[in-house]
Amino acid sequence: MSAYIGVDIGGTNIVCGLLDDQLNLLRKTKKPTGASNGADYVLRLIASMIDELLEREKLTRVDVAAVGMGNPGFVDPVRGVSLSSANLKWENVPVSDLLGGLLGGIPVFIDNDVRMYTYGEAARGAGRGYDHVMGVTLGTGIAAAMVGRGELYYGSGFLAGELGHVPLEGENALCGCGMRGCLETIASATGIARIARERLEQGEASVLQQWFPGDGRKDVTAADVSRAYDEGDALAVDVLRFVGRHLARGLAWAITLWSPDVVVIGGGAANAGERLLAPMREALMPLILPMYRGVAIKLAEMNDDAGVVGSAAFAKARAGA
Ligand SMILES: [Zn+2]
Repeated sequence: MSAYIGVDIGGTNIVCGLLDDQLNLLRKTKKPTGASNGADYVLRLIASMIDELLEREKLTRVDVAAVGMGNPGFVDPVRGVSLSSANLKWENVPVSDLLGGLLGGIPVFIDNDVRMYTYGEAARGAGRGYDHVMGVTLGTGIAAAMVGRGELYYGSGFLAGELGHVPLEGENALCGCGMRGCLETIASATGIARIARERLEQGEASVLQQWFPGDGRKDVTAADVSRAYDEGDALAVDVLRFVGRHLARGLAWAITLWSPDVVVIGGGAANAGERLLAPMREALMPLILPMYRGVAIKLAEMNDDAGVVGSAAFAKARAGA
C-alpha cells in the first residue's frame, strides 16, 4: 500500500501518525521531544517512532510514499531545512536530508507547524469545503497561515503569517522576539495567564485569589482563567474580554489582507472557546469593512491531529501523488 507519515514536532512532544493513501489516520504515537539532547537525537527518535508505527500495522518502509513534518519556527520548505527554532534550539538543521537518510531514502517534506495545522484543517477539518482558509493558532504565541484553493501562501523568505509580532500602542510587555507590546503578549494562552496574574498581584478580587493563595498565583494558566469565567468571576470575564478585543484587532488586519472565507482558530488558548470568541466577534465586526463581515469564524475541529494529518497531506501533495 501507499502510506504516508505525518509528524508534528513541538518543544514538548512529538506526535507521529500513519495514514493510508486517502489520508485516513490509522494509528499515532506520542513521545517527549527531549530537545535538549540535540537535533540528531530527536531525528533518530522520530525515525524509531515511524518504524514502530509501521511494525504495528504490519507494514515496512517500502510502503511509505512520503513523510511530512510540521516544525515550530522558521522553515525553508523547498530545501527542507529548519532555519531556526527557539523551541527546539535548532539552527539550520537539514531535516529532510537527515531524516530521509535515517529512513533509507523515503522523501521527507517539512514546513512550519502553523502552516501544516492550517493545511490539515483546510483539507479535513473546520476549513473543509471553503476555498480560502486562514488558520490561526493561539498557544504560547499567535501565528497565522493561509491556504487558497489548496495552496499555501508563503511570502518572501517563507515568512508570511507572523501575526503575533506587531507591537500595539500602549502595550509594554516584553515579547519572546525581543520587541515590546507585541500582539502575542496579549492574544495568546501566555498572554491570558500573564494579564490575569498581574491583576491578581495588584490585589483585584477574584475566585483565583482563593484557588491560588499567596505566591500560588504565579501558576495561574489560561485554562484556570476559563474555569474562573465559568464561576462568573468578574476578573476572568474582563481578562477574556480584553484579550478578545486585541485578538479582534489582529484578525481585522489579517482578514482585510487575505480575505478568507473562514478563519479557523486552534491552539491551546482556543480551548477558551466562546468565552474568548464572543467578545472577539463583537469587537471584530466594527473593525472590518462590511464586505468582509460574512467571514465564518470557527474553532479547529482536529485538535492534536491537524498537524499530523496536514503534514501527511502536504507530503502527499509535494510528492506529486
Ligand atoms: Zn514579538
